[in-house]
Amino acid sequence: MVNYQEKEYKSILNKHKFIDSWFWNRYGINPYNGCQFGCVYCDSRSEKYHLPTDFENDIIIKKDVSSMLDKRLTNARALLPDVVAFSGACDPYQPAEAKFKNTRQCLEVLEKHKYPVHIITKSKLVLRDLDLLEKIGSNPSVTGCEVVRLER
Ligand code: SF4
Repeated sequence: MVNYQEKEYKSILNKHKFIDSWFWNRYGINPYNGCQFGCVYCDSRSEKYHLPTDFENDIIIKKDVSSMLDKRLTNARALLPDVVAFSGACDPYQPAEAKFKNTRQCLEVLEKHKYPVHIITKSKLVLRDLDLLEKIGSNPSVTGCEVVRLER
């Protein structure tokens, strides 16, 4: 049985010390804590992420992600528009997204501020947001937009 719990956070955008060499992202967003997909190989259960004890059944929904992210990007003089990766410690299109839309809200703000994104998901729910992803992909600083489907 999956429990959803809404919780306030001080920040939604993580700025990495170095650009990630795999995904080229300078920033990261995890719209949720915990991941209902619960893959056995997932390293997001690691204690360093401070995630719920029951990783795939206690899903924390970050509250007010849209205003929190918009405020951060509007007021941030030191931030450069650069790649924001979703999927660091949760799947942004896990089942909670169908109900709470935190990922979509973040994408809307990133599109407004012209930040490119990188998303990895195993859910076809990502197709719901193709309209937004196309807008983000039309930004001249974004070099590619591709949806790859992986079968299990
Ligand atoms: S979908 Fe990704 S974040 Fe979620 S459990 Fe699987 S590997 Fe971990």
